[in-house]
Amino acid sequence: MSEIIIRNGRIIDPANKRDEVTDLAIVGGKIGKSAPKDAEIIDAKGLIVAPGLIDIHVHLREPGFGHKETLPSGARAAAAGGFTTIVCMPNTSPAADSPATIAWIKNRAADAACVNVLPTGAISKNIAGEELAPIGSLGRAGVVAITDDGHCIQNHELMRRAVEYARMVGLPVLDHCQDYNLVGNGVVHEGYWSTLLGLPGWPAAGEEAIVMRNILLAELCDHHIHCQHISAAGSVRLIREARNRNVKISGEVCPHHIALTDEAIQNFDTNYKMNPPLRSKEDVGAILEGIADGTLSILCSDHAPHAGFEKEVEFDQAPFGIVGLETELGLFIDLLVHKHRKIDIKRLIEMYTIEPAKLLKLNAGTLSIGAPADVTLMDPDSEWTVRIDQFQSGSRNSPFDGWKLKGRAVRTIVGGKTVWKL
Ligand SMILES: [Zn+2]
Repeated sequence: MSEIIIRNGRIIDPANKRDEVTDLAIVGGKIGKSAPKDAEIIDAKGLIVAPGLIDIHVHLREPGFGHKETLPSGARAAAAGGFTTIVCMPNTSPAADSPATIAWIKNRAADAACVNVLPTGAISKNIAGEELAPIGSLGRAGVVAITDDGHCIQNHELMRRAVEYARMVGLPVLDHCQDYNLVGNGVVHEGYWSTLLGLPGWPAAGEEAIVMRNILLAELCDHHIHCQHISAAGSVRLIREARNRNVKISGEVCPHHIALTDEAIQNFDTNYKMNPPLRSKEDVGAILEGIADGTLSILCSDHAPHAGFEKEVEFDQAPFGIVGLETELGLFIDLLVHKHRKIDIKRLIEMYTIEPAKLLKLNAGTLSIGAPADVTLMDPDSEWTVRIDQFQSGSRNSPFDGWKLKGRAVRTIVGGKTVWKL
C-alpha cells in the first residue's frame, strides 16, 4: 500500500471540527499522523480535502438489470462524482430480500467495485408490501438499513411491525413516501402543468401523507425513520415540526428537486420524469429553506440509470428516474453554495459525511487518524460543463447535459488508492 502526502489543501473534516490549510498523510491505506519522506506527493493547493463523500441513495441495478448499470460501472460513476461510499437500493431482480442476495452483492462489490458499496435490504418480501422480509437475517448478512425504495408499504400495521423489528436488531429504516391511493397512476406533479399537458397528476399530498405516517410510527415505536427524496413543501413543514419535538425523523434531498420545476416537463422529455416528480417553484423554495435550517440533513442522488430504449417511449410509459452520481456534487455546490447561498461548503460536506454516517452508523465520513483513507479532493470554484457522453455510468438518462456548473470533485481516493482523477 502506497504512502501519500496531500500537500497544502484546505482540510475540512466536520467530524473533528477541522478547517485549516495543512497536509494530510496517508499510510497503509489509513489516515496517518505523518508520512515517510519518500511518500507520493499530491499537490492540493487551492483545493478542499474532505472525508470521502457518502451517497446513501443509489440504484446499482445488479443483480438482474445489468443493461442499465453494473456494480463496477456504478462504482466508477460514484468515483467520478467524488463518492467513496455508496448505499445501494434493494429493488433488483431478485429483490435484495434475503441473505443470499446480500451475500451476492457484497461479493460482487468486493470483486469489481472501486468504491465501498453498502447494501440495503428490503422491508417486505419481494418488495411487494404484503409480508415482512427476514429483517434479522438481513441485519446479520450485513445490510446497513432496510427500505422498500421504489415502493412504499401501504399497510401501516405492517410498517409498524417492520419498524419494531428494525429497532430490535438496530437497523435504520429508510422510506420512499408515496400513498398509492392518492397518487394512483400519476406521473408528474399535480398542478398547472399536469392539467395543461393532460398527464396524470402525482399530488404533493401523496408524499406528505406517508411522511406524516412515518412521524407517527417513529414516535409510536421510538425508532428512527428516514424519509427518502423529499420533494414537497408540506413534507418539509411536517419534518421540521416533528424534529422540533425531537421525533426520530429525517429527510434527504436530491439535486433535481431543487434544480428543476415541473415546468421542465412541457416538452414531454422523459429525462424529466422521476418519482417523486419535479414540483412547483414554491416546493423548491421550501426545500431550500429546509436545507438552510437543517430540517433536511442529507444530500444524495437517487441515481437511477435506465437504458435509452427504455426512456425513449411515451411519457406515461417511461420508467421513473435519472442518473445522478456524476452531476450531484456539481449541482449542489453550484446551487446551494454559489447561486442560492443557502449553506456554506462546510455544511455541504457535513451533509455528505457525518450526517449519513450518523444515520447509518458507518465507519466513514471522517479524516481521524487511523480511519480508512477515503478522501475526496474538490475544487468548489472550478467551472465545467456536464457531458453525458463522458459519463462512467452505464446509462445516459440525465436532463443536465450541457449544463454549466461551478464546483466539482477532482480526485477520489478509496483506502489510500486514487480511484479517479480529473
Ligand atoms: Zn424512491
